[in-house]
Amino acid sequence: MSKNIAIIGAGLSGLTAAHALKDAASITLFDKSRGVGGRMSTRYAGDYEFDHGAQFFTARDPRFQNAVEIAIEQGLVAPWNGRAFYKKDTGLEPDTGGDRFVAVPRMNSWAKSMAEGLDISLGARVSRLLRADGQWNLQFEDGQMKGGFDAVISAVPSVQAEALLPADFSAMEAIKATKMDACFALMIGLDQGHDFGWDSLRVNDNVNDWLAVNSSKPGRNEHVTTLMIHSAAEWSNAHANADRAWVQAEMEASASRICGIDISAAPHRVLHRWLYASVSASPRQGALHDPALNVTACGDWCLGGRVEGAYLSGLAAADNILSNA
Ligand SMILES: Cc1cc2nc3c(=O)[nH]c(=O)nc-3n(C[C@H](O)[C@H](O)[C@H](O)COP(=O)(O)OP(=O)(O)OC[C@H]3O[C@@H](n4cnc5c(N)ncnc54)[C@H](O)[C@@H]3O)c2cc1C
Repeated sequence: MSKNIAIIGAGLSGLTAAHALKDAASITLFDKSRGVGGRMSTRYAGDYEFDHGAQFFTARDPRFQNAVEIAIEQGLVAPWNGRAFYKKDTGLEPDTGGDRFVAVPRMNSWAKSMAEGLDISLGARVSRLLRADGQWNLQFEDGQMKGGFDAVISAVPSVQAEALLPADFSAMEAIKATKMDACFALMIGLDQGHDFGWDSLRVNDNVNDWLAVNSSKPGRNEHVTTLMIHSAAEWSNAHANADRAWVQAEMEASASRICGIDISAAPHRVLHRWLYASVSASPRQGALHDPALNVTACGDWCLGGRVEGAYLSGLAAADNILSNA
């Protein structure tokens, strides 16, 4: 069994792998951000708060269902029974999928709880992995090094894994073949209560594909109305580097038509760009493991994206390491 394991990325996949391995090895996590949770994230602005990454999650695999049930008992997750619709040319149609869950009181709350008791370095962007005498050394963007790891788990989006992992990583082709899409997240805070008749709306108007009343989720501040708007993948990819003011204006114009109010007049309007939000081509393999190098890649992209995929991929990464011990 490897003794010292470095996990790069403290999103749900990295945190899940850390929990599955922590009794068998010494684990250190590194994340470039100021907080944990990765794309299960929350932005604050006064009374307004927004889950500007993952909106909700479903649980189909029994292992994830079990984790969600435990988190519900712990008060970290709750069902979101919002009014969910598709906007069709003919009107609104119910958006029927599996039960929807959110972390409470914010989307990053579950990850924060998972992080407790783990050894995590934040603000630590790993830029290179170097191998010497059979061990891995991590080089950070500020030039510092941290060494002595027997194994490394990369739990970052595929494009970032491609840049980070050694060129001779056995599954590099599968990483390169993965495709992740961009998404713009427009956060709108309204100064008075609004009932749009829906709490989430899937739309197909080329610019936006998702609108949600963030304040309708359990545990959120219900004294303000917050609206979360996501741009469609194809449009986001095409305009990922476009002028942000133009992107925001296009999204606001589309959202105004859909909502029936002038979104550009809202008192709080902030745009965020996710370069790697969702997954449109995936290896469909729990995790990618190179036993010769003692390097494993995991993340939502291994299993087609989404929160459930991130959890299952983190478990698979840990399984690979434990079964090769
Ligand atoms: C806009 C948007 C909407 C979404 N909606 C949904 C949804 O409704 N339902 C759903 O199930 N899923 C949704 N998702 C996807 C969901 O958020 C992800 O599937 C899941 O959170 C991914 O977890 P992860 O651990 O694989 O990766 P991440 O959460 O991305 O974690 C990776 C971590 O690695 C860190 N990192 C990256 N590079 C480095 C480096 N070089 N050094 C150190 N740290 C690094 C990052 O800071 C990050 O914290 C959405 C995502 C976005 C962005």
